[in-house]
Amino acid sequence: MSDLNGLVAVVTGGASGIGAATVEELARRGARVASVDRTAPVSADVLGAIADVTSDEEVQRAIERIAVEFGGIDILVNNAGIGAAGDVGANEDAEWHRVLDVNVVGIARVTRAALPWLRRSGSAAIVNTASVAATNGLPDRALYSASKGAVIALTYAMAADHLAEGIRVNAIAPGTADTPWVQRLLDAADDADAAAEGLRKRQPLGRLVSAAELAFAIANLASPLAGSTTGTVLTVDGGLSTLRLAW
Ligand code: NAD
Repeated sequence: MSDLNGLVAVVTGGASGIGAATVEELARRGARVASVDRTAPVSADVLGAIADVTSDEEVQRAIERIAVEFGGIDILVNNAGIGAAGDVGANEDAEWHRVLDVNVVGIARVTRAALPWLRRSGSAAIVNTASVAATNGLPDRALYSASKGAVIALTYAMAADHLAEGIRVNAIAPGTADTPWVQRLLDAADDADAAAEGLRKRQPLGRLVSAAELAFAIANLASPLAGSTTGTVLTVDGGLSTLRLAW
């Protein structure tokens, strides 16, 4: 596909996992792509702006650099995120602020910096990465789930605010995906093989979602071919949220 020819895309968290796969997919479909991440992108062909999404100064500098170097910004993928474990009492205030700062305020910061450029685009689209944790009560994920619930609420509000400006805003809600993030969780488990089997078993499809499948979903939402799609959350979870195979 070359539906993104001539467009410029920015992916936060583009150095790993879903973000890295998205960088690859957007480039494959013709976009010039930049990663905004704390670490450098996997491929030297990608413009890598090193920035922490919790720093307004770093974000502004990164977005300005990308827009000037590429001559604008058409697509923004707000994907950088971090996890948190435990019930509602498990984390101190500082941890709540830290996680919300990355997962929620980070989206506001990057979008705020990119908005002037997106407004000038004829094909502007934003895709935020939420999670099935936002809409399914998962044990021991209180803070993380709250942050992703906020991502979905923010997606709808942004879609309404920027509709008249021609900026479409959507989100994806991934199920458990095969990325370095999940690998880190497995590495920390007492029995990594048993933990991996447990993750696969809770997926109706019997396997984890691949980063490439999520990247495909993100690129489709970002594509100008999806011109009527705004204010939606696309769930890509192997059936986790909606299917009950045993009943
Ligand atoms: P990952 O850890 O492989 O990649 C995350 C990337 O974000 C890393 O490159 C990291 O450096 C970057 N990042 C983190 N904090 C940052 C910050 N403050 N500033 C700049 N960059 C930062 O994780 P992933 O699995 O690819 O997850 C990507 C997104 O998908 C996250 O928002 C996550 O919540 C969401 N998600 C993941 C899963 C899953 O099972 N992997 C499921 C649902 C949702």
